[in-house]
Formats: sequence, C-alpha cells, structure tokens
Amino acid sequence: MRIIAVSNRLPVAVEREETGLRLTPASGGLVTALGPVLARRGGMWIGWPGTVGTDVRDIETELRLQSQALGFELKPVPMSKEDVEGFYQGFSNEIIWPLFHDLQSRCNFVPDYWTRYIAIRHAFADVVLEHVRPEDFVWVQDYHLMGMGRRLRERGLGNLMGFFLHIPFPPPDIFFKLPWRNDVLEGLLHHDLIGFQTPHDVENFLDCVARLLPAAKVRRRQRVIECDASRRRCAIGAFPIGIDFEQYAKAAAGPEVTARTQALRADMPNQQIILGVDRLDYTKGIPYRLRAFQRALRRYPELHRAVTLLQVVVPSREAVPQYQDLKAEIERLVTQINGEFTQPGWVPIHHVFRSLEWLELLAYYRVADVALVTPLKDGMNLVAKEYCACQVEGNGVLILSEFAGAAVQLHRDAIVVNPYDLEGTAEAIRRAVAMTPGQRRAPMNRLRGLVRRQDVHAWAKRFLAACGVREECGQGAPSDAAPESHREDDQELSGHVHT
Ligand code: UDP
Repeated sequence: MRIIAVSNRLPVAVEREETGLRLTPASGGLVTALGPVLARRGGMWIGWPGTVGTDVRDIETELRLQSQALGFELKPVPMSKEDVEGFYQGFSNEIIWPLFHDLQSRCNFVPDYWTRYIAIRHAFADVVLEHVRPEDFVWVQDYHLMGMGRRLRERGLGNLMGFFLHIPFPPPDIFFKLPWRNDVLEGLLHHDLIGFQTPHDVENFLDCVARLLPAAKVRRRQRVIECDASRRRCAIGAFPIGIDFEQYAKAAAGPEVTARTQALRADMPNQQIILGVDRLDYTKGIPYRLRAFQRALRRYPELHRAVTLLQVVVPSREAVPQYQDLKAEIERLVTQINGEFTQPGWVPIHHVFRSLEWLELLAYYRVADVALVTPLKDGMNLVAKEYCACQVEGNGVLILSEFAGAAVQLHRDAIVVNPYDLEGTAEAIRRAVAMTPGQRRAPMNRLRGLVRRQDVHAWAKRFLAACGVREECGQGAPSDAAPESHREDDQELSGHVHT
C-alpha cells in the first residue's frame, strides 16, 4: 500500500535562476516523518514547487531525478501569480491562518480569495486523480487543503483518506465568522480520519459540527461521527506532532555544536541567556514578550547585567503589510528597551533577524539557560520541543505559553504563562532565572523523556495505525482500537481518537 502525501509545498523548494533550476531540499518535522515512510512504501508527494508559472515541464524532469535520491516520487502542482496571491497569500494566509489562531480582526474576507481557493483545490485534486491507484492511502496535510477531499470524493475516489491539521481549530464563535464555514467543515468530513494537534481542537471541531451540521451524528461514547450528507463515517482524534528527538539530541551533543556553545558562552560571560526563537508572525506574541521582559527588568533590578534576552526572529511573509508592521514594532521595542537599560558591557536584548543555520540554532538552544516560548496561539510549537531535545546538560528551564499546543504535553514540567499577562510573565522570568541547577535538572529530564517518547516517528505511526494503515496488515477500516495507554503523558497523545 502506497502513501500519497499531499501538502501545499513539496518537500523540495524549486527556484528559477538564470543558470537553470535550483532545488533545495526542505527540512523540518513533516519531511523527516513522512520521507522514510514514503520511501519504504514507494509513495508519492504532491505539492506546489514554490515557483510561479503554469508550465512546469522542466520542473517535472528535475523532480524525477530528485525522486530517485529520495526514494519516492514528487509531483508538482503549478500555480500562476494570481493563484499564489489568491489561494496562498489570500485565502490561506489572510483568512484561515488568522481566523484559526483566534485573530479574527486580522482576517481579510475577500470573496475572490475563495474563488481562487476552489480552483486550486481542484488543481490539487486533478494531480492526485492522475496518479492515484485504487489501494493507495491519501494523506492530506494542513489548512491550505481542507476541502480537497470533498473534490476527490465528488470525482468518485473511494480510497482511504486521512487529513492532519497542523494549526489549531477554533471554537464555533470564531469559526462561524468564516463566510464559507459549511463548505470547509463538510470538506473535512470526507476524510476517513481527521487528526488535530490537541484534544481541545477536537472538541472545538465537534462543537462546530454539532451546531452547523445537525444531521451529522456525533456519538461520543461509541465515538462515531456520521455525516448523513455524505453517508461517510469519519474518525476524529488528537495526534500531537513531535520532532526527531534523536537527531536534535545527537547533533546538540556533537563536537561542532559543543564548540559553538562554548564560543557563545565566552561571548556572554556571567549571564543567564534567555532565548526566544520565532518566525516573524503576529501569532508568536513577540511584542508582548518584549514588554514582559521590560517589566521584569523594571521590577527586578537584580536581573540587570545578569540576563540577556537572545531573540531570534526568522523572516517570513514579508510581502504582507501586517508582517512589515510587526517587524517595525519589534525593532522599535528592542531599541526602546535597550535604550532604557543598556550599560557599558551589557546590552539586555540581542535581536537576530535572519534565518539561522541548523547547527547555529542548536548551539543557541543548548547554551540557553531559559527558553521563552510565549505564542498567543500555536498549533503545537516545535521550538519548545527542540529546545528540550538540545538541553543535553539538562540545566535549562522552559517558560511556555498555555496557548501553545505543546503545553498539553509539557505543562507539568514547564513554567506555564498567559502571554497576555505581562506581570505574570515577568515573574516567571524572575523565577526561572533564580532556579538552581538542582531544581532545573529533574523537570528538564522529564521534559526530554516525553519529547523523546512522543517523537515525530511515533506521531506518523499512530496516525497511520488509527487510520488502519499498518506495515503488516495493509489497508483496513479506520481503527477504533487506537493504542490505549496507561501512562499519563501518553493519554494526551493517543487517548482521544473518536471513531
Ligand atoms: N527554524 C528555522 N530556522 C531558524 C530558526 C528556526 O527553520 O532560523 C525552525 C525551527 O527549528 C522549528 C520551526 O522553524 O522547527 C518553527 O516551528 P514552530 O512549530 O515553532 O512554529 P511555526 O513557524 O511552524 O509556526
């Protein structure tokens, strides 16, 4: 049984240059998790290559060569400039992204975005239909493609299909603002399994189904959702995504990262390093975090010359005016806070605005005494997990927003904060900095154990198993025998499959 993975972007980025095409393999959790599974089963990955233009014949040729190295096929879905603007930047990133992160005031409900979205979901479905075989399992990833399953069913595809949402799912009061809410909800119900990051997202989704689709039967005891409209049975569950723990932990302990860590330490002697790593995005709560740090410096003078906030911001979506405004706001705040507190020999905030090389990032994670991970809302937040994996000495403290999906798993051994509560976050910073190595070790070791057990490979395996896809058994019906676990931390991972 092959797996057909479908996501907005292919796991390689293609750029057209004067000398020809340049292919850059993508890294990240999804590629790490799905790559080996696809290679083992001889699967296929379908997605946008990242170039603008509808003639992709040269790209197809190049991708065929790349496919041989990867061990699975790559099939491009072309997009015109209008597609990128309407579907990707518009519908996906100006409507679904802010709405699903509870930031409805940032949404831009342009009707043309929806029209373009329909066209693109048809285009994705066409590529799937061109290549799919009857026994394939189709696994659709993320919010860009929530409605593609519906199109595939309308075109008669009867294959087993799963969908995983990497971002949060909002409660009804917010979801109902979406002008095309019924279409989106019904579109999802055409899959055999819908996976969310947390049980809270599952509950939000079920609340929306109960109120918008009264004909759909949601039985929680037997855990059956029946959608009369499509006469399909759909399983719903929480599958919090993980990271490749071993890869991070091993590289963080290796000689190159060790040398970089020592160099960083030498550059900032006698300091506790507080680390923030975020993509430039309003969901990450960077301005709130900077204000909380300012408050901590005002309130606790003992932190002066004793702490440095190393804030990494990775450029992202800079074509969107809201992101340009955010960048300017961060720069203004950093300048203001540094102006207020800097002394000869001590600058409180080091602001890095660029993408880091992987080993450099790992050195930052390893050297940091405290990680400040305070998104206003986040599907999971992998930075929190990567930080734990790289804490090979076990001396770090994780301060984590209660609104990050990761908090469901990590809350017991992190210092949990409400990122809107500046006083509370300032106090958490003081508390974390004051913790002795002895007080830090046990919580960090427990965090590392959990992130290791619930890694990205476990995530993929559990999703596929819940869908009835097993190495030994081949295709089956969606399983209602999701792996039960008696360990408390595993309950959050596997105990919430509704079939
Ligand atoms: N990251 C990166 N380049 C950097 C710094 C971080 O690619 O310079 C990665 C980081 O390793 C993590 C991802 O960006 O895997 C951020 O994932 P997260 O879930 O925290 O947030 P997202 O950006 O997906 O909303």
